[in-house]
Order: sequence, then structure tokens, then C-alpha cells
Amino acid sequence: MRRIVAKIVCVVLLSDYFCASVSAHEQSNRRPLMNTTSVQYLGNEALLFTDGDRKVLFDPFFHNNYGSYQLVPESILKAIFSGEAPFDNVTAIVVSHAHGDHFAASDVAKYLAKYPKTKLVAPSQATEKVLSENPDVASQLVEIKLEFGDKPVTNVVGDGVQALTIDSVRIPHAGWPKRQDVENLVHRVTLPSGKTVLHMGDADPIDVHFSPFAEHWRARQSDMAFPPYWFFVSPEGPTILKKRINALKSVGVHVPTSVPVTLQQSGGDYFSAPGEVRKLN
Ligand SMILES: [Zn+2]
Repeated sequence: MRRIVAKIVCVVLLSDYFCASVSAHEQSNRRPLMNTTSVQYLGNEALLFTDGDRKVLFDPFFHNNYGSYQLVPESILKAIFSGEAPFDNVTAIVVSHAHGDHFAASDVAKYLAKYPKTKLVAPSQATEKVLSENPDVASQLVEIKLEFGDKPVTNVVGDGVQALTIDSVRIPHAGWPKRQDVENLVHRVTLPSGKTVLHMGDADPIDVHFSPFAEHWRARQSDMAFPPYWFFVSPEGPTILKKRINALKSVGVHVPTSVPVTLQQSGGDYFSAPGEVRKLN
């Protein structure tokens, strides 16, 4: 009814411009909700990567913000747990490392038990914790156990049209040479369309960690990389993003809620408000 009234108003009273925008609005309402490949920011390093059919959640569940970082808002967590669009039919949860601002084993275990088709791709430090929470989800776990210098591994996750290719490599956690015990993984996730993103966890921004894997970076270009924001404000970080990892664009994550001035001045793109979206096409 409202549409009919709008059309009559168009015909009788208003300009072509208004009428054109009414009809564009009608058309956009008819399109599927998610018709492009995109990445939505949920908080800290939590992201939803989707083309509408396939859905990947990176580092979605955690409860510690160490007083500085963005938690995933309750409303988003609720939508994820209740499987509301766009958080329905998630093919995989992909975890970078088992720190409290990226990972909460109890939530991941609870989610996997509720959604038996969803897989978890994570370092063994995370999968072991999930397993001790709930051994019944064992078949949903894709455990990645890598030492420093090990060759990257590739997993194909999901069935048929849902299948994702996930290449993972161990890159030391920020703060090198401290925290060497942390299994931090950089995951490159490719949808069947070829669209690819690189989630870098809490990688340390020194090229000596990345250069041994030159062939790995060359093997596939990422449409978008998601480095922790310190890559934009460290001496070697910008060069790693531009020249090493073979990504067309980079969008910073792990940004403190009070955005550092150095990041603002760096000219780099970054996420800071949950719900923000970057389109890949
Ligand atoms: Zn960390």
C-alpha cells in the first residue's frame, strides 16, 4: 500500500529524481540481503566473512578486553548463538590463538554442540581446551599443530558448495622474542568463488617471520588482509602488508576503543565500530 502511495506521489507531485530513488529502493528490497562478498567487524579481531551462502567467523568468542579492546556486543553474540541471519549456517569458526581477547573455550564448545555442522579450525592450544570442555564435539575440530618454521598446512573444510580452503601458517605472537609458546596462526581463507581474506591474529610485525614463507604468500593473492593495527605503526609492518603478504588491501583490527593517534595519522584503513563492513567486490 505504501509503495502504491509513493508511486502516486511520484506521478502527481514530485520530481523525476524522487521517483527514480523510490524505484531503486524497491529494487534493492527485492535483492537478497547479502549479494556481495564482505567482511563485517564484530569486535577486536572478530569478523564475519561471507558471500551470503558461505559464512566464516574469525575469533568470535572471548570475554577479556584487557581494559582496552572492543568486546563483541551482547546483541551480536546473541544473534550468533541463536543463528540469526547473517550468522546462520556458519561453515567454520576460525581461531588465531588461545588468548582471552580472542578465544573462550566454553563458548566455542557450546556453539559447536548447538551447530553440529560447523567446524572449528584452530591451533592445538585452542582445540585441546574445547575438547576438555566437551569431548562430544571432537569430530568438528580441525586441529592445527605447527612449530616455528613448519610448512603451512591446507585444510578443505565443509561439504560441496560450502567448502572453504584454509591455509594456515604459524607466525610468532607480537612481542617477539617473548611469548614464543603461543601458537599464533595466520589463516588465509578462500571461498569457492576465489575470494580470499587473510586473518593475521596477533602476528609480530617483523619481516624475518614472514620472509621464510615467500612461496606461501606468492601462491595466492588475498583480496583483503586483517592485520592487528600495530602493523600500521611499526617500522616494518607497512612493508610486510604492501610487499610481502600479497594482499590487495589491508584493514587493521585489534584497535583499542580509544583509537591511537599514531594509527589515525598512519593513513591506514581500520575497523573500530562493531557492524562496520568492507566489501570485497
Ligand atoms: Zn594474543
